Amino acid sequence: MNELLRIENLHVAVDGKELLHGIDLVLPRGEVHVIMGTNGAGKSTLLHSIMGNPAYEVTAGKIYFEGEDITEEAVDERAKRGLFLSFQTPLAVPGVTVENFLRTAKVAVSGEQQRLFPFKRRVQQEMKELQLDGAYADRYLNDGFSGGERKKHEILQMRVLEPKLAMLDETDSGLDVDAVRVVSQAVADFHNENNSLLIITHHNLILQHLQPDAVHILMDGRVIHSGGADLLDAVEAHGFEHFRK
Ligand code: ADP
Ligand code: MG
Repeated sequence: MNELLRIENLHVAVDGKELLHGIDLVLPRGEVHVIMGTNGAGKSTLLHSIMGNPAYEVTAGKIYFEGEDITEEAVDERAKRGLFLSFQTPLAVPGVTVENFLRTAKVAVSGEQQRLFPFKRRVQQEMKELQLDGAYADRYLNDGFSGGERKKHEILQMRVLEPKLAMLDETDSGLDVDAVRVVSQAVADFHNENNSLLIITHHNLILQHLQPDAVHILMDGRVIHSGGADLLDAVEAHGFEHFRK
């Protein structure tokens, strides 16, 4: 099936307050879609809702993944199906090393045991590509990580878990230009015709490495405009308000 993700008339509320007011979105397999919009537009809310974060209550509408209704499914079930969400501010988890965390997550998501040494080699190889020091694998998760290291860890996680749908929430913000290049290249290398990316970004740098198939502009909990990659330049030139209906 070519359609990986379908969202129909999605309404989402937090603490009884509606934040998304009827989102429709179709993401075919193998495509890269970008979500842009003003601060507070509901971009992160949308990704959290797709991932199944229980803080976000779906009050109407449906989410389908590979044709199956996952609207009511728990986060871990969605992760097993191949959904992945990077977080803007991952929590520190003292006592759990990066490598242990990745291995546990990989076992949980894939349902397969991961042999210690091949897995270790795999992680070392991925870290090299991300220009992370090899010793990083033995550090406690996010404990004292710099902003850049956290972001790279999100991408490391994505590459190890190999999701069908990778959702990246401002993974490129707060990084220096060199780090953005490394991260963007690692995301681009990961992408192929069998996976899809849903990316929130305010920067065009990451998109120099990835050719987006579609761009969606979100405002006040609604998709106000969708189009091709040329929308990126239009947004740069005219801002978001220009697209309000
Ligand atoms: P964006 O990512 O586009 O900047 P968000 O999705 O983070 O926007 O937020 C959209 C709106 O919903 C904001 O007004 C924000 O304060 C509110 N919001 C988001 N998440 C929560 C939450 N967990 N609890 C309360 N309000 C939230
Ligand atoms: Mg956000």
